[in-house]
Amino acid sequence: MPILVMKFGGTSVANIDRIQRAAKRVAVEVAKGYDVIVVVSAMSGETNKLVGYVSETSPLYDAREYDAVVASGENVTAGLMALRLQEMDIPARSWQGWQVPVRTTSAHSQARIEEIPTGNILRKFAEGMRVAVVAGFQGVSPEGRITTLGRGGSDTTAVAFAAAFGAERCDIYTDVDGVYTTDPRICDKARKLDRIAFEEMLELASLGAKVLQTRSVELAMRFGVRLRVLSSFEDNGETAGTLVCAEEDIVESNVVAGVAYSRDEAKMTLISVADRPGVASAIFGPLAEAGVNVDMIVQNISEDGRTDMTFSCPTDQVLRAEKAMQAAKESGAINFQELVADKGVAKVSVVGIGMRSHAGVAAQMFKALAAEGINIKVITTSEIKISVLIDRKYMELAVQALHDTFGLERAA
Ligand code: ADP
Ligand code: ASP
Ligand code: MG
Repeated sequence: MPILVMKFGGTSVANIDRIQRAAKRVAVEVAKGYDVIVVVSAMSGETNKLVGYVSETSPLYDAREYDAVVASGENVTAGLMALRLQEMDIPARSWQGWQVPVRTTSAHSQARIEEIPTGNILRKFAEGMRVAVVAGFQGVSPEGRITTLGRGGSDTTAVAFAAAFGAERCDIYTDVDGVYTTDPRICDKARKLDRIAFEEMLELASLGAKVLQTRSVELAMRFGVRLRVLSSFEDNGETAGTLVCAEEDIVESNVVAGVAYSRDEAKMTLISVADRPGVASAIFGPLAEAGVNVDMIVQNISEDGRTDMTFSCPTDQVLRAEKAMQAAKESGAINFQELVADKGVAKVSVVGIGMRSHAGVAAQMFKALAAEGINIKVITTSEIKISVLIDRKYMELAVQALHDTFGLERAA
């Protein structure tokens, strides 16, 4: 029988009633003749609560134990979903990551899936089971420890299963009815896209649009998974939601496809570091070892052989970054006067494959921000995106201004 993967996010399994509603959607696909792999997230708010417990207990936690704690939210919903389906007389059972097993790297809290053996689940399907309910977000390391795939990782679990099982489609059920030109929660002019190219979705996701985890888009692109995002609250026809697909399958598109933001950024400046070969490596080496995800980097002009080095990282990694830099200073590897952390910034980005062949997008972006009196602190660009770091208090205004200036409320 053909296989379908259906993933339900946190708000779609937030309570028993919602789990029941999701189970009904699964039943519809089972009735059509699919064997279904259901991937579930933890109930909404649950993972945040578990992360809070960990940070409260141990601020610079051991990531292996972090994973042991935060993976547990998905275990609950997987079991409940299987129970609900059984109540509906649909043969179903749950699998935790290690039981499948979802084999991952041992990069705890941001592990990558390496392999999903299909034998166990296929055998059960052959014996008449109709639904395999899989706990999203989790796997097992080569050392046999529980791992997690980074926040939002259930999307990646779903796409990886779709690839491994050759599923006909991977449907991501969430609390919005598709991918929009920007987050509809902060811009009411946001427009739902019927289709979006893998490359654009990849950039939007990595720049903060949390509707899909970046890695899930990467995998879908690599393995040609038919990936659809749709609402678990509305009635969906065959063409509902947004299809994430190859660039060639999109007829018309705007130069800028969407605007993304990332709220919890910090801007860190090392004041007065030596401007000589090897300094960048002496700074960013220890940061990488400490698990700090450095994003933007700017080195200021040099005076008297000294310069300021600015980088951005997520706000919850500021403590790690400070410790790593202090340790590097004490060991004599680097020398700086002061490390200034500004935790009040956000990153706003515009994305579009049309930017490859269209000049002037950056100028238009900066003009729109200037018109709102928004100061730009750091800029980075790539072939299909431009990002700026600004004061967090202007983030929503910036998103709305950029959405307007690039005319995103209208289709191309
Ligand atoms: P789930 O719990 O189902 O995984 P998430 O909260 O992770 O859901 O992702 C869905 C949310 O992503 C939406 O509620 C929306 O606020 C946000 N979002 C951000 N950018 C976009 C976008 N461009 N299109 C749609 N949703 C977006
Ligand atoms: N529950 C995890 C999180 O909140 C994974 C997911 O929902 O995708 O990040
Ligand atoms: Mg999510």
